[in-house]
Amino acid sequence: MVNCHFLITTFAAQGHLNPCLQLAKRLIQMGVQVTFVVSVHGERRISRNGFQTPDGLKFATYSDGYDDEGIKPGDDLNRFFSETRSNSSQRLREIIVTSSVEGCPITCLVYNPLFPWAAKVARDCRVRSSVLWIQPATVLDIYYYYFHGYEEVIMQTYKDPLRSIELPGLPLLNGRDLPSLLFPSTNGPFNSILPLFEELIQTLDDSETTPQILVNTFDALEPEALNVVEKYNLIAIGPLIPSAFLDTRDPLDASFVCHLFQKTNDYTEWLNAKPESSVVYVSFGSLVTLPKPQMEEIARGLLDTHLPFLWVIRVKENGEEEKEEDRLSCMEELEQEGKIVPWCSQLEILPHPSLGCFVTHCGWSSTLESLASGIPVVAYPHLSDQGTNAKMIADVWKIGVRVRANEEGIVTSDEVKGCIEMVMSCEERGEEMRRNAKKWKDLAREAGKEGRSSDVNLKAFVEEVGGDY
Ligand code: UDP
Repeated sequence: MVNCHFLITTFAAQGHLNPCLQLAKRLIQMGVQVTFVVSVHGERRISRNGFQTPDGLKFATYSDGYDDEGIKPGDDLNRFFSETRSNSSQRLREIIVTSSVEGCPITCLVYNPLFPWAAKVARDCRVRSSVLWIQPATVLDIYYYYFHGYEEVIMQTYKDPLRSIELPGLPLLNGRDLPSLLFPSTNGPFNSILPLFEELIQTLDDSETTPQILVNTFDALEPEALNVVEKYNLIAIGPLIPSAFLDTRDPLDASFVCHLFQKTNDYTEWLNAKPESSVVYVSFGSLVTLPKPQMEEIARGLLDTHLPFLWVIRVKENGEEEKEEDRLSCMEELEQEGKIVPWCSQLEILPHPSLGCFVTHCGWSSTLESLASGIPVVAYPHLSDQGTNAKMIADVWKIGVRVRANEEGIVTSDEVKGCIEMVMSCEERGEEMRRNAKKWKDLAREAGKEGRSSDVNLKAFVEEVGGDY
């Protein structure tokens, strides 16, 4: 494809970068030129941990006010977003102008849901734009309903956890299934995000034509949710995972994965030595941190299953010291019985033949990776879209179970052990989850193949926004 130039901008968190970079790569494979705009710190971290920039991808950066160390817990999120808004807007404008002067004008600006202001930049510069929604279509629908008359009934659901809510086209949901960002008291510093979603929905509503929203999902996974909001055109282009992990079309693109954390590789031999479908893989993604008493319960639950386990426990960042009192009381036993790593290549682990079950926070990337690998799940959601994802894992796609916390809000070791054993069991419920996981794996891989739904949808979108074949 000639004369086609996409400008992609994203927030540089792990779960945002991965799908965005995959989109960039697919566009490049179609012959599209891509300029990828991230914060100075984000770009440094991407290149620090072995990311190989493919031909046709150009990085550009802006300052978010935290160039050296990046934003950390306790920093001022309002300052971060205000710097991000003004500096990224200016940078995007500059790139649009210079690209035009240089004879390769921007065809389309694809922006992150947390950067709604980018749509305004595109409109001012008379460039097409589309948001890349990196959560399920179901969650976008819930936000849409919240800002279109359902706020009160959603809030009641939160206050009364036993009450269910029926939103058009979606499964019955109760409070714990709804995105936590809707309920300010539960989010602490993340409270500055809901106004950004409100601005996003407002921006989409103000579009002169039906807004086209790229969604990291696939048609067969959320057929109703993708079509229920008539004012929007949701275009499923996922799962945005390297094709090396979906089919064998391009084994080399396994290296096109970015890691913001330093990973170890010393688990491969360990995994190779384990029997088929025997290993429990535990990871809560790049953001969630659990209090020590909760970690102790998970540790005890894992040990009590007597199954081999691989657990990602992230180490402290930015020079923060590991304190002796933070160390789990049974760490030695954990290291003897299982494998503890600070970060790993999750995409390589999930399809490994030894894997039997994934204990996850249900971040959307992890959920899609689990689906595409056919691995059943113990869902332990914490914030944002994770509760909704867990609901669909357990009750819609039926590939896992969801943990229940006790009255003090703790998920006990017995609960952890019981959920893992249920998923791994040879009884009917475990068998059913494995059958469903296999079904979704086949459908996810099918959607991602050349000439199949997500590929066709993306090509039609690119053609429509103005590339010349
Ligand atoms: N991930 C990884 N190694 C790890 C843990 C996570 O490569 O040890 C990757 C995982 O494959 C996924 C991303 O980090 O692509 C996490 O994104 P997700 O949306 O699941 O969760 P978040 O980190 O945004 O909470």
